[in-house]
Amino acid sequence: MITIIGAGMGGLTLASVLHRNGIAAEIYDADLSATSRHQGGMLDVHEDTGQVAIAAAGLSDTFRTLVLPQGDAMMVRDKTGTILLSDEGDGSRPEIDRGALRNLLIETLPAGTIHWNCKVTEIAKADGGNELTFADGRVVTTDVLIGADGAWSKVRPLLSAAKPVYSGITFVELRYLDADEKYPMAAELVGKGTLFALSDERGLLAHREPNHEVCVYVAVKVPEEWWKGPITRDLLLSFFADWDKRYLDVLAASDGDLSARQIHALPVGHNWPRIPGVTLVGDSAHLMSPFAGEGVNLAMIDGADLAMAIIDNPGDIEKAFASYEAKMFPRAAEKAAESAENLIVAFEADAPKGLLAFFASMSQPEG
Ligand SMILES: Cc1cc2nc3c(=O)[nH]c(=O)nc-3n(C[C@H](O)[C@H](O)[C@H](O)COP(=O)(O)OP(=O)(O)OC[C@H]3O[C@@H](n4cnc5c(N)ncnc54)[C@H](O)[C@@H]3O)c2cc1C
Repeated sequence: MITIIGAGMGGLTLASVLHRNGIAAEIYDADLSATSRHQGGMLDVHEDTGQVAIAAAGLSDTFRTLVLPQGDAMMVRDKTGTILLSDEGDGSRPEIDRGALRNLLIETLPAGTIHWNCKVTEIAKADGGNELTFADGRVVTTDVLIGADGAWSKVRPLLSAAKPVYSGITFVELRYLDADEKYPMAAELVGKGTLFALSDERGLLAHREPNHEVCVYVAVKVPEEWWKGPITRDLLLSFFADWDKRYLDVLAASDGDLSARQIHALPVGHNWPRIPGVTLVGDSAHLMSPFAGEGVNLAMIDGADLAMAIIDNPGDIEKAFASYEAKMFPRAAEKAAESAENLIVAFEADAPKGLLAFFASMSQPEG
């Protein structure tokens, strides 16, 4: 049996494509259930990665019905609120709610494939495989183990000593329910899709979500332990004191708690020598900052590629893992380098100048 740790986008895509091709797998996830945790904001699903994976899972048509209309519109503003770039989008990078996409994948799997409330706490070598111990003391042994368990993977140490490093940036997530009615300033500033408001090494990264919701990540350059202190609205406002009053209005009120998320990354080009019976997909393999919007897209294409490698190499899991890793390592290295570069550019003193240059270079014809 193929054992996958983690029911995020990487693990679910892998199991879904395997199942579609008649191969069973089981997933263990630490979450209490499919709905126990809010899954976070919108995702733009890229043509060459996420959309390919969705097609491999046979979900393209249903996916299209869940896309947020005009969600791929994008605006860049500076701290005065001036719009420096506005793009209506062309539908090539459809935006979808992360929870909706996750549910779509979960629904493709036979009941009982995902074992919820199963947090792996320890992994030890066992005869011909690995022995997994869960938080409740249960033990399972497997000879084919795939880590899809995200940033703080328990499977990764079987392959590599690398650890995520704090990027220097922390996000504080603010949510605005019924934004058009209750928070018209937030709704107006963000527009129909995504907003990048950047200046002075800080910013507001925001997007519109279904049901008139808006999500704003307040991005600040702070020490690693900053998130442990009390994070108050006054503290957030103090970072933006000389920004346009419209931003201050947005920061002054939102729904729910202020929750901090530190941004970490693995070293660019992280890889490992082939070790029998174990591999990784998604963030566990190549955690990167979200500044190229690639994390979910790569997790999904990793899952689909690994599934296809297993299908194409029946009875030879080592050949399957080797061929998957040969494709995944260079792809991940390229995107991780791009993410790292974009993070620097987004938080320079003269931002959003570098980001505008980046978008301009993307719209130039190649050659
Ligand atoms: C603020 C923020 C914004 C982002 N925005 C975007 C974006 O716009 N576009 C994009 O493409 N990417 C974005 N990303 C990155 C994206 O979220 C990740 O790259 C993606 O979720 C990785 O998927 P995954 O399946 O590898 O891991 P995850 O989504 O992290 O899933 C891992 C799963 O493993 C489970 N798990 C973890 N540990 C254990 C354990 N010990 N035992 C059992 N189960 C375990 C977890 O419960 C979870 O379900 C963003 C990230 C952040 C932090």
